[in-house]
Amino acid sequence: MITRTPHPKALATGLEIGLPRVITYLRISVTDRCNLRCGYCMPEDQSFLARRDLLTFEEIVNVARVLVEKGVTKIRLTGGEPLVRRDLPMLVGMLKALPESPQVVMTTNATLLKLHAKSLHDAGLDRLNISLDTLRPATFEKLSRRQGLEESLAGVEAALEAGFAKTKINTVVMGGVNDDEIPSLLAYAADRQIEQRFIEFMPLASNQYGLQAQRVPLEEIRRRVESVGELDAVSGGSGPAKMFQLRSTGQRLGIISAISQPFCDSCNRVRLTATGVLRSCLFEGGEVPLRDAMRGHNPEPVIGNALEFVRRVKPDVHSGFGHVQMNQVGG
Ligand code: SAM
Ligand code: SF4
Repeated sequence: MITRTPHPKALATGLEIGLPRVITYLRISVTDRCNLRCGYCMPEDQSFLARRDLLTFEEIVNVARVLVEKGVTKIRLTGGEPLVRRDLPMLVGMLKALPESPQVVMTTNATLLKLHAKSLHDAGLDRLNISLDTLRPATFEKLSRRQGLEESLAGVEAALEAGFAKTKINTVVMGGVNDDEIPSLLAYAADRQIEQRFIEFMPLASNQYGLQAQRVPLEEIRRRVESVGELDAVSGGSGPAKMFQLRSTGQRLGIISAISQPFCDSCNRVRLTATGVLRSCLFEGGEVPLRDAMRGHNPEPVIGNALEFVRRVKPDVHSGFGHVQMNQVGG
């Protein structure tokens, strides 16, 4: 058994002394495909997996069922862009129908939400995180190598109209690209009573580690937000976001800094890639390819053993460099 000396914070967050972690959160990449080509996520000439290489909905649900039985309470659908996978609301319904009825949430670029927000809500999707890095069409095109800001903004409105509560907007802050938009993004989110979160750029194989120069560290993001008004650190918020409140307006916001201040000591998540690899970490760490092992076998013991393995080898601190494609592993 792998043992570790727990960080004091870990003791308060569910890790047991000398025992593997408690895993309560599963992130699933349902497809590596996307209708955008964000520079921090994938190369322009990205080629995609063949359909037969992806897990089917039934296989995804089989993995989720075992993990939910073993303690997972929250499932995030991500990708690639989850909404380019056909019939995604059906998968949401299948996951919500699991006996323990886990929370099912989704991260999306929102460009297709206008078409799907209502059916996702009807299928039982609990919440949405919307990725929105800019409010300027030219910056959107530069960042994502596609047009689509109008559709993305329409998607935000569609989410609100469909009745989704506690929607969040996630913005990757990049120096010289969108760091000057922090005040306008805060105002946009405040107008819609949406929680705004600013995310530190992560160097990954999918961006050739080359955009690192654009990384704006946590303290710098905080200084930029403070140009809007005085900030108070507040408690609450889910996951790794450090939460703040603008003193003047009471607007709450989060900053997520996986690189400046890794949150590995309290990480409770595992990831299922589009091809069915169960991973312990976004960056480096143990992984188990499940797809072929599951096909033609009784999958339950295979999946249960895989979970046991990845939670035991989960790194104490990530390497800071992911040799992965973000769109395959799921951001
Ligand atoms: N297509 C969906 C979307 O964009 O929301 C879901 C998948 S995307 C990979 C999930 C999240 O990962 C997005 O919020 C995106 O901004 C973030 N992301 C991708 N590459 C990143 C990087 N290098 N550093 C920080 N965040 C990144
Ligand atoms: Fe697509 Fe999301 Fe990656 Fe952008 S970050 S290319 S929207 S998967």
